[in-house]
Amino acid sequence: MDSKKPKALIVGAGIAGLAAAWWLRKAGWDAAVVERSPAVRDGGYMMSLSGPGLETIKRMGLFDKVSEVAHRLRENIMHDQRGHEMLRLQYEDFHGGTEGTAICRGDLARVLREALPDDAVRYGETVTEITADDGEDKVHATLSSGEKLTVDLLIGADGIRSSIRDRFWKGEDCLEQLGYSYAAYDIAFAKKLQADCVSFNCPGYLATVYSLGEDQKAALHIWRNPQAGPQDRENKMEAVHKIGANGPALVTEVVAPFETASSLVIDDLTMVTLKRWSKGRVLLLGDSAHCLTLISGQGACMAVASAEILASELMKTNNDVAKALANHEKRLRPVIQSLQAHTRKIAPVYIPAGALKYHLRNLFLRAMPYSWIVSWYKKSATGEIDLTQALKD
Ligand SMILES: Cc1cc2nc3c(=O)[nH]c(=O)nc-3n(C[C@H](O)[C@H](O)[C@H](O)COP(=O)(O)OP(=O)(O)OC[C@H]3O[C@@H](n4cnc5c(N)ncnc54)[C@H](O)[C@@H]3O)c2cc1C
Repeated sequence: MDSKKPKALIVGAGIAGLAAAWWLRKAGWDAAVVERSPAVRDGGYMMSLSGPGLETIKRMGLFDKVSEVAHRLRENIMHDQRGHEMLRLQYEDFHGGTEGTAICRGDLARVLREALPDDAVRYGETVTEITADDGEDKVHATLSSGEKLTVDLLIGADGIRSSIRDRFWKGEDCLEQLGYSYAAYDIAFAKKLQADCVSFNCPGYLATVYSLGEDQKAALHIWRNPQAGPQDRENKMEAVHKIGANGPALVTEVVAPFETASSLVIDDLTMVTLKRWSKGRVLLLGDSAHCLTLISGQGACMAVASAEILASELMKTNNDVAKALANHEKRLRPVIQSLQAHTRKIAPVYIPAGALKYHLRNLFLRAMPYSWIVSWYKKSATGEIDLTQALKD
């Protein structure tokens, strides 16, 4: 590490950690990232990039690189539980005026990784010991390699099950189960889909299959699971098998190989709600701080936007870390709270729990003029707030 620059250690090289490293370097910091995986993690689930996150990607000069690996989704054909077509959503109608880009998580991580120097990320490495005493303006960390580092800021960008959060926010009850589980994976699957994206709705269940190219598809299943908890992975695997056994033909076919998919992510929809995202010189960033879940469609976007805000506040305050962390939180928190409130509200609309709510929702979708539905979906994506405007300082 460069001895003259302020130093940061970032734990986790997901979207949040990689973006934080890039922005801190831009702010003149020496930022090292440790990632416990041996290499960039592949993960086939599809994400949309929009709003302030996409603006941040552009300011990083990475929009062209993102576009090279992005997927252009034109249409989503939604079906009801009997396999009847219910609605055709044209994606460009949602983005009217603003752009939206769909990208696999692993591809975005690779683009961010390649924007950093080779030695910026240490794969297969983690922190084993941290000392961050109250009132001290340095954090002392020991890495699994045995190396000892003293830094001005430690960032826990280590995801929803953050060990940095467990260590420094011990005893804070911050995991909020929304009552759903999900499975996301990509598979080799040659069959042509009716559209770039097809989805199937049943009471308490939603399946979406995306085309990643001629021979590759990505699948996402979300189902109601009021007893959801991280310990019941076997039950969740079982639930996906049942979905395959009872679903329409396409869902049965994509579920068949799901257990062998190396990209499989199977978990619960869990939000993280903390009163503060920093303690002294330790900051949580991304899902570790405020997981929004896939329902908001903004988790990765807000992670990169948050990294940029952090860097701008450090520059503005001339690296007064305490002030910068306070300003960062002040700008970001209202937006995150609004997205989380909206996520609670919208999840039961996307995946209605019982048959009555399901049929009422479908009646609405069938009866409403298309322009109303587009306007409702647009608002539902952001909780009706202009995220870019709200994040301005
Ligand atoms: C199916 C699905 C669809 C989604 N769709 C969208 C979307 O459309 N738009 C959107 O913006 N967001 C979306 N999201 C959310 C988005 O993917 C996340 O918010 C984002 O990836 C979080 O990034 P992160 O870096 O905070 O966490 P993570 O991606 O979880 O990264 C954490 C990293 O830390 C590493 N790590 C953990 N512990 C340690 C340790 N002790 N030491 C070292 N390393 C460690 C992990 O290996 C990992 O690489 C979606 C999520 C899912 C699951």
